[in-house]
Amino acid sequence: MSRGADVIVVGGGVIGSAVTYYLAKEGLDVCLVDRGDVASGTSSACDGNVLATDKEPGFDSQMTLKSQLLFRDLQEELSYDFEYRQRGSTLAVEDEEQEKVARDWVSRQVAAGLPMRYVEREEVHDLEPMIADDIIGLVECASDLSLNPMALVFAFVHAAESLGARIMRFREVKGILRDAKGAVKGVDTAEGPIESKRVVLSAGVWSPFIAKTVGVDLPVIPRKGAILVSERTFVVGRRKVMEFGYLMTKFGGGCSRKVEPDMDKYGIAMVFEPTPHGNFLIGSSREFVGFDRTCTSEVLTLMARRAIRFFPAIKDVKVIRSYAGLRPYTPDHLPIVSPVDRIPGLYIATGHEGDGIGLSPITGKVISEMITGKPTSISVEPLRLDRFEKKAAGAKTTA
Ligand SMILES: Cc1cc2nc3c(=O)[nH]c(=O)nc-3n(C[C@H](O)[C@H](O)[C@H](O)COP(=O)(O)OP(=O)(O)OC[C@H]3O[C@@H](n4cnc5c(N)ncnc54)[C@H](O)[C@@H]3O)c2cc1C
Repeated sequence: MSRGADVIVVGGGVIGSAVTYYLAKEGLDVCLVDRGDVASGTSSACDGNVLATDKEPGFDSQMTLKSQLLFRDLQEELSYDFEYRQRGSTLAVEDEEQEKVARDWVSRQVAAGLPMRYVEREEVHDLEPMIADDIIGLVECASDLSLNPMALVFAFVHAAESLGARIMRFREVKGILRDAKGAVKGVDTAEGPIESKRVVLSAGVWSPFIAKTVGVDLPVIPRKGAILVSERTFVVGRRKVMEFGYLMTKFGGGCSRKVEPDMDKYGIAMVFEPTPHGNFLIGSSREFVGFDRTCTSEVLTLMARRAIRFFPAIKDVKVIRSYAGLRPYTPDHLPIVSPVDRIPGLYIATGHEGDGIGLSPITGKVISEMITGKPTSISVEPLRLDRFEKKAAGAKTTA
């Protein structure tokens, strides 16, 4: 049997590594267990944006703002360079119908305290000289930032290890163990049990399988997304640029996009991200296809076509790589950062869908506050696991 710990964290993606770091910072003896290497799941198959601009105004955007502030501290605290760049981001507006929704989006976000503005047509090409001539406006958010997501995981892990955390790689967790009273007493792994009175489950889209071993249903399913990586090339976009219609593919509704039906079928919306190395990333798609991570040429071709629509100058730039990851999707687009009331000692930190990189610091901090009994940095009510049961019970009584 391996030495026990104050807390076992299951899953070494960006969420588990952030949780491990913040717990270790509180002086707890933490053991992070992953069935592969750290950053071997979705956190190494994604973009690295930390965006408030695409969050629902209110709790969602405020939670991201808090995380953005934590990132500012982390770039000082973490010695491993995770390529933090705070240059803001923009959403490209294609027509008058989108403009109306975009202006309303900006005024709601500004009212909620976000540093956003609507950029008029005359200024569009000053900000993004390469963007297509017919783009009529931009939505700009000054606090948005980008980073390298894999490097962020390594930075959290490196810092946690120097604070005394243990990282167990290539050790699969088979289930959660409980004592006679039903409280957590550790995890069972392929190499035997590890004892702990507290377990944080942060295994991304694979969390529901582990939760099931103690009869907990997690409403988390994989939502596939693909990315294209370009060769090193000329400066195409100065910073993060997305199409305004991205909000439609993420949340649905609002206003229509004039795209061929297959773009909507695969949830394709242009997300452009320059890297510090001279390449750029093009995203992305949104599909519910189980755990299949295949990149199909059909989807990749549509993504490339969509990117060329916004940046015509890239039509001859070579793509050097593509990959797909599985976003841990929940039905209300909010993550689950919560204790499990009926199993003392069990905590859940997953379901961040397309925002796990951005929300990793606030998630790690809040879990550490829950475990150490401190007041939480944000209200955790909207993130509780039992919200789904309450909604289901409410739906039954009104039916
Ligand atoms: C195309 C795409 C673009 C994205 N862009 C962004 C973005 O710009 N900004 C943003 O904030 N988010 C983005 N995301 C979302 C983000 O990538 C995820 O929300 C985040 O990576 C989820 O992290 P995680 O730690 O929960 O899961 P993961 O990174 O998947 O980590 C889970 C870990 O659990 C381990 N594990 C699984 N089962 C077991 C077991 N039985 N025992 C032990 N370990 C186990 C796995 O090996 C894995 O390492 C994007 C996602 C995609 C797909």
